Amino acid sequence: MESAIRIHPAVDNGIKPADPGFSGGTLVCACTDRPVKVKIEGQVAHNHVCGCTKCWKPKGVVFSVVAVVPHDKVTVLENGDKLQVVDSSALIQRHACRECGVHMYGPVEREHAFQGLDFVHPERFQESGWAPPEFAAFVSSIIEAGVDPSQMDAIRARLRELGLEPYDCLSPALMDYVASWVAKKSGALAA
Ligand SMILES: [Zn+2]
Ligand SMILES: [Zn+2]
Repeated sequence: MESAIRIHPAVDNGIKPADPGFSGGTLVCACTDRPVKVKIEGQVAHNHVCGCTKCWKPKGVVFSVVAVVPHDKVTVLENGDKLQVVDSSALIQRHACRECGVHMYGPVEREHAFQGLDFVHPERFQESGWAPPEFAAFVSSIIEAGVDPSQMDAIRARLRELGLEPYDCLSPALMDYVASWVAKKSGALAA
C-alpha cells in the first residue's frame, strides 16, 4: 500500500478500522498552550476525505478528513474563548482556534439537509477507534489549491487503491439525501 502520492496522514499507511466500542472522545487543537478541547459523544458518521479548499487540513496535504456528528453531541470543554467563526456567511459555521487555526467543530444552523449536524475532524481526537473515511469528496477541487491537473489520474487511482471512491461532489448517497430533502421541501416528493 506504499505510494509516493500523499492523501492524508490518517490514510496514507492504510485505513484503520473503527473500534466497535468507540463511544466518543475529545478533539484537541494543535496549541501546546491552552489547547481548545471539544467533547464528542458517540461515533462520527459519514467520515470522508475532502478536497475542498474550505476544510481545515494539516500542513502539506490537500485533503482533509471530515465527518459529522449531531450538534447536541458536541460540547466545548476548555479554552472556548480561543474559538472564532472562519466565515459567518458559509453554510458550515467552522469554529477555528484563532492561534493554531485548527477547525474544532462546524455546525450547520441554516435550513438545509445537514441542519443539526456539526462537521468535525476526527484526526484531532486524542483517542483512537473513530470510524474511518469511506469515500473522497470534492476531489477535483484540489486543483483550486494548486495541484497540477496532470496529477489527477494518479491521485484518483491512489484513492481507489485505498478504498476511497473519488467523487467530485459528495458521494451519491449523500447527494441523493440532499436532493430528497430539497424535493420534500418543494413538494416534488411527499414528505
Ligand atoms: Zn489551537
Ligand atoms: Zn471540505
